[in-house]
Amino acid sequence: MKREYDVVVIGAGPAGSMAARYAAETGANKVLLLERDREIGVPVRCGEAISESSLKKFVGVNSQWIASIINEVRFVSPAGYVVDAYTPARGFILHRRLFDHYLALQAASSGVEVITKANVEFVDEYKDGFRHVFVDIFNEKYTIKSRIVIAADGVESRIARQVGIDTTVKLKDMESCVQMLVGNINVKINRIEFYLSTDLAPGGYLWVFPKDENSANIGLGISGDFSNSKHAIKYLQEFVKTKYPDASILTTVAGGVPCTKPLEKIVDDGFMVIGDAARQVNPMTGGGIALSLAAGKMAGEVAGLAIKEKNTTADFLMKYQKEWMKTYGAEQKRYYRLKEFIRTLKNKDFDDIALNLKDLSPEKITLTKIFTLAVRKKPALLVDVVRVFANI
Ligand SMILES: Cc1cc2nc3c(=O)[nH]c(=O)nc-3n(C[C@H](O)[C@H](O)[C@H](O)COP(=O)(O)OP(=O)(O)OC[C@H]3O[C@@H](n4cnc5c(N)ncnc54)[C@H](O)[C@@H]3O)c2cc1C
Repeated sequence: MKREYDVVVIGAGPAGSMAARYAAETGANKVLLLERDREIGVPVRCGEAISESSLKKFVGVNSQWIASIINEVRFVSPAGYVVDAYTPARGFILHRRLFDHYLALQAASSGVEVITKANVEFVDEYKDGFRHVFVDIFNEKYTIKSRIVIAADGVESRIARQVGIDTTVKLKDMESCVQMLVGNINVKINRIEFYLSTDLAPGGYLWVFPKDENSANIGLGISGDFSNSKHAIKYLQEFVKTKYPDASILTTVAGGVPCTKPLEKIVDDGFMVIGDAARQVNPMTGGGIALSLAAGKMAGEVAGLAIKEKNTTADFLMKYQKEWMKTYGAEQKRYYRLKEFIRTLKNKDFDDIALNLKDLSPEKITLTKIFTLAVRKKPALLVDVVRVFANI
């Protein structure tokens, strides 16, 4: 390990590995990727679902890290009415452990140094064109100088706050999620299922994502507003026990998902924040893999360019913030408006939507149709529905 770098990236999730790779490919010679855990991609705290289009756009598709191919989406209402939506787009359930490994290896192939068991404790202020990164590697303390630091340290991020970026998420916008990898069950390998009910997952939803015919990621997220009265794990245990009484639970993981509006500020002098740490998550679905890939690539490219141009000030790095706000930030705001409305729906509303669709042939039940019905009491949201679901 050197004592001075062009770019240091903190956290080797999808956001961090992409940022490191693209910084190295765009113009930074010395790039370091630091990961706190001993193994990249472990533990997996994710439902592992991603659309085919996102994968193709940012990484490509590799059968080694794909568990199942999804082309059916089922919604189940509180009273048990089933709606099977037609979607022309495919999706995947990944093996995140292998996927995250692959992304880090791609970064390494582009010349990035990768170090695990490296816990970054502090990043200091920007002085004379550098920041200092204080890191503990296998119980030894090191101080590393870097022209740019990229914080990709996930939902529990502390680094951005240390440098004065406000990443606070309101309690109601922080979904408390828990998930089990459940075996000894029968699931349809090509279908994901969503259960919408304030009894099963208040302020959120419950998902069943198949890993193969006999196992699935079964999880749920509940809004922070509700998580004190009954914990997410209790809701999930009750569901699994009732629906899959013979199931074996292979792993249980928990984590927060920030379902909020885009942050106002994501850069500072010699500093950028990306991925969950920057709250770059689809606030309606809680999906963050695709946005982390997008943010990592975008921030990495700007970092590489900044090194080439020898300008690592916030003014230059604003290229990333501006581009983000123009593209994904605008979309995040639309999804946020929809989420805010859907949070107000009651069990009866979900049942009504399902009943409304029961006489339609399956190919007419598109996501646009379902969400158009959902927002009918607030027609101003129709524009958002059309914009976000037009191509899905
Ligand atoms: C239960 C659950 C289910 C989910 N399901 C889905 C889904 O199906 N589809 C989807 O798209 N999204 C899903 N998400 C969200 C998705 O997992 C995240 O949005 C995505 O992983 C964000 O990537 P990231 O790189 O920003 O952060 P992460 O993947 O969290 O990576 C951050 C990395 O930083 C490391 N780190 C943290 N602090 C430090 C430090 N101080 N020093 C060094 N390293 C550090 C961590 O160890 C970690 O490896 C789910 C989340 C949860 C909790």
